Amino acid sequence: MQARSLPNSSPTISGAELLFHELSGYLRPEDVSDLQNVYLFSQSAHSGQYRKSGEPYISHPLAVASILGKLHLDTQTLTAALLHDVMEDTHVSKSEISNRFGETVAELVDGVSKLDKIEFQTHADAQAENFRKMLLAMARDVRVILIKLADRLHNMRTLEAIRPEKRRRTARETMEIYAPIANRLGLNNIYQELQELSFHNLFPTRYRVLTKATKAVRGNRRETLKEILDAIKQCFHEAGLDTKVSGREKQLYSIYKKMVEKHLTFSEIFDIYGFRVVVKDIPSCYVALGALHSLYNPVPGKFKDYIAIPKENGYQSLHSTLLGPYGTPIEVQIRTTEMHRIAEAGVASHWLYKSSDADLNDIHMRTHQWLQSLLESLSDSDDSLEFLEHLKVDLFPGEVYVSTPQGKILTLPKDSTAVDFAYAIHTDIGNCCVAVKINGENASLRTKLRSGDRIEIVTASHAKPNPAWLTYVVTSKARSHIRHFLKTMQFEESAEFGKRLLNQALLSFNVDPQTISAAQWEKLARESGAKSKKELLADMGLGKHLPAVVARRLTTPGEAISMPSGANNAIVILGTEGMAVQFAKCCHPIPGDPIVGFIKKNQGLVIHVHDCSFIAKSRKNPNNWMDVTWSQDITRLFEANIKMVVANQRGVLARVATGIAESGSNIDNIAMEGDGDYTTMHFTLQVSNRQHLAQLMRGLRHIREVTRITRVSG
Ligand code: MN
Repeated sequence: MQARSLPNSSPTISGAELLFHELSGYLRPEDVSDLQNVYLFSQSAHSGQYRKSGEPYISHPLAVASILGKLHLDTQTLTAALLHDVMEDTHVSKSEISNRFGETVAELVDGVSKLDKIEFQTHADAQAENFRKMLLAMARDVRVILIKLADRLHNMRTLEAIRPEKRRRTARETMEIYAPIANRLGLNNIYQELQELSFHNLFPTRYRVLTKATKAVRGNRRETLKEILDAIKQCFHEAGLDTKVSGREKQLYSIYKKMVEKHLTFSEIFDIYGFRVVVKDIPSCYVALGALHSLYNPVPGKFKDYIAIPKENGYQSLHSTLLGPYGTPIEVQIRTTEMHRIAEAGVASHWLYKSSDADLNDIHMRTHQWLQSLLESLSDSDDSLEFLEHLKVDLFPGEVYVSTPQGKILTLPKDSTAVDFAYAIHTDIGNCCVAVKINGENASLRTKLRSGDRIEIVTASHAKPNPAWLTYVVTSKARSHIRHFLKTMQFEESAEFGKRLLNQALLSFNVDPQTISAAQWEKLARESGAKSKKELLADMGLGKHLPAVVARRLTTPGEAISMPSGANNAIVILGTEGMAVQFAKCCHPIPGDPIVGFIKKNQGLVIHVHDCSFIAKSRKNPNNWMDVTWSQDITRLFEANIKMVVANQRGVLARVATGIAESGSNIDNIAMEGDGDYTTMHFTLQVSNRQHLAQLMRGLRHIREVTRITRVSG
């Protein structure tokens, strides 16, 4: 140890030296020196923080950057790796990172921090698949996932310092979520190490037993291994093939998995020898395979051609199992140099083998569509910017992944709203939803959901679907349930209202509704093309038949009928008719206003104020008009519009809003037009009746800045 170095700091300093030494192997000197500055910045941000192991915190980001350096990742990724925990754990903000190190780096750090916020709970395999997809979907830049995987890898390597309970949870999460993601991206080395570390921490005893057993038999194998290797090399030499052959050690976890899944004993698995053959081109792969099959007999049914049909992560190779000397099973993998690169580094092979990407074209032609879409832009050109642009495209463009407060993941189509989510959970939740919290904050039901959102639907037992939802829901489930509900509700309400209209009409003919027989009803329904009495009533409520006409037909022919008197003929509006009665949007009638009813075919009765200018010209046809009057005991609120001119003074809107609230009204909408010293404010308010509105307006006139206030009606 040098005299100058301080206790505790030596591992960090040597870690940093090692990293920058490695980086100078492939980065320009000026980039390395930029990264040294990033390191110093991160170090000071994390100063005073320590890991559970007692090391200074900076050792962690340093190690993460070093893992990514081994994959030859670019400067932006390494910068973000060094900074990946500063937003979470220190006072440094996203905008500060953006100002110092650029927007891309800030986005990468922000992306990693966001992934950290997702909480994983124990879940079934199907859930795990959804979590993996959600994670991938959230990271709009694949480099975010690479940093996250390196972060997880280092945390797994240093898990001993964590208490056992948390250790197991982290290991399970790594096994279920992160290792499969590494596999999906073709990052084979990271994938295998994550698996081994998870296995070690999940099943420490099994891991120890297997390690011991492996060590014990490895010595015995050496002889046989050399014998086979020599035979294979000799065979390729005779075939005139230029190959690289190496023995393959099995991962403990893959031995364990085979034992469990295929019910094999340890020695049955360990007796299998594995070799990898790397050749220069695809024809050589098949030549090498032919040579091996003539050296040792192949086991039938064990040949797989992943060159013709690559795995979904882009992996390509020929696999075959042979019977070696003394009947020893031999597994071989045959691939080209380029396939080997993809097999080892997957999506990261772009950075790792940047200098020699000329031949990659051929491979990409055959790799799976998904990985191909990520990689193909690099075969088009060596424009790195274009490649990065490509990587930012959503990995699953058509879907969003969101969760319930309990952590259940739902997959919804793009542009889905909170209402779609509510219906996706349960029809009753959809029908009764009134509000939503997204990531803990109140939001509008029409908010479009984004991957990673946690959605909490607020329901009320009396709530009903709103027809306006149909304008923004995207799932067919939500749409059909809303339609169905509205139709049923409209039918019920229309029938109820139709009955009232008819009774009113019958009474005005001096006929007691009770005296109409079932037979009369049936006959009339049939003649009107309705299936039942109820449907006929609903049709009347919807304005398809005029009550007076129906009433006349229901009375016994020849019976004396007095003509409707007019005065007491008015239909009483209760305000509870639902969709059977609508209040016109042009004039916003409120209780106390003189009103008229307009029968709108297929929609029911629309109430207007009697002098609504909007309807003046259509009043000529008296058949569609109906006398209506307000019930004395209406309890619901109605919309009213008022217009106010106020002097522009500080806080005037607040004073007006307070005045409105104090008189027991709600504000539905506000619009304002500035006009120099004065502002015109338009309010849509909820009031009980005319008296209520008058009292409210009186109250507002007392506010000094209010110069004029009028109700807008028609
Ligand atoms: Mn970290």
